Amino acid sequence: MHRLPSILLLPTPAKSKYHFVFLFCFLLLLIHVYIVSNGNISLSSMIQERVGLIWKWIDATNTTQEKTQMPPNTSKSLGPCPDTPPGLKGPLNMDFNYKRTLDEVRENIRSVRFKGGRYKPLDCIAQQKVAIIIPFRNRHEHLKLWLYYLHPMLQRQQLDYGVYIINQDGEGVFNRAKLMNVGFVEALKEYDYDCFVFSDIDLVPMDDRNLYRCFQKPRHLSVAIDIFNFKLPYKTIFGGVSSFFKSQFLKINGFSNTFWGWGGEDDDLYQRVIFHGMSISRPDMVIGKYKMIKHVRDLHNERNPVNAGKLRHTKSTMNEDGINSLNYTVKEIVKDILYTLITVDIHGPLKI
Ligand code: UDP
Ligand code: BGC
Ligand code: MN
Repeated sequence: MHRLPSILLLPTPAKSKYHFVFLFCFLLLLIHVYIVSNGNISLSSMIQERVGLIWKWIDATNTTQEKTQMPPNTSKSLGPCPDTPPGLKGPLNMDFNYKRTLDEVRENIRSVRFKGGRYKPLDCIAQQKVAIIIPFRNRHEHLKLWLYYLHPMLQRQQLDYGVYIINQDGEGVFNRAKLMNVGFVEALKEYDYDCFVFSDIDLVPMDDRNLYRCFQKPRHLSVAIDIFNFKLPYKTIFGGVSSFFKSQFLKINGFSNTFWGWGGEDDDLYQRVIFHGMSISRPDMVIGKYKMIKHVRDLHNERNPVNAGKLRHTKSTMNEDGINSLNYTVKEIVKDILYTLITVDIHGPLKI
């Protein structure tokens, strides 16, 4: 059975383009019939061959035309993730009394895609690349709870994120702020993060609409913590969880490295923001609700009375004390499926 020449299937404007070719072929056929009837076979077969070639050429040009007229490549290419992630739940339930082993947490959160607590959405390109930096020492129960509740939430928020636990080595005085700076520098060695969320290990958001992203202004995320009766204890509080674009954090030279022991380092950070001509943003008091995992004040992190007084000097010291003066020694980097644990000697005093 003969296939219909594909030109017959073309729309009218495309057909008209080939009318002259048809006429030409028809003329050749007439000559062919005339020659055959007069016995000149070899000339006749040559003409037959030419007609076939022209026919093939018409078919070939039609096929090319069909290809270029196809709609643009419809194979699924990834677009940007939407401003509002579609899978958010809103208010969340949590139970800090239920104990799990780290293995159980790992089993529960199989969706983390890359070693070191790294994840990115499968179906869209995340708007920001977010490093979550957590200062740490000897809070393993808190770590399990944080991982258990935060990983699923960060994934619903469609973030391209990594979790960095910055573990202070030794028994010296704790320094939350300096560990944050270490986390910033170390995370950037691994990936081109553009946003940094600095979080305590014991703060779990109660609403997944509180996006762990960066905003036009440095952001205070933990605005309504249960232990503070879901209110701001004072207007300028900036502790707990905050977020900065890389550029915003570099502009203020990061945290101070010199706040040893408990208190003040977050107030100093707030002043750095203000003294660099910025202000902070916050979610509302419903979306910004947090539960803090209960704990006593840790050994080697007692309140340091010197820290409050240092706040009078932020303006004059901030540009020399921070990311540009940071010194530390990395002791070990461990890649768990749920986090990157960086143990670091921050060259601190044994006592305040
Ligand atoms: N932290 C830690 N081990 C310590 C002291 C502090 O891991 O020995 C970290 C932990 O992330 C904690 C944060 O530093 O959430 C702030 O310390 P803390 O919770 O004691 O301060 P709070 O905000 O409760 O006054
Ligand atoms: C301290 C801060 C702390 C806040 C809330 C302030 O007095 O200086 O570092 O975050 O209290 O506990
Ligand atoms: Mn705490």
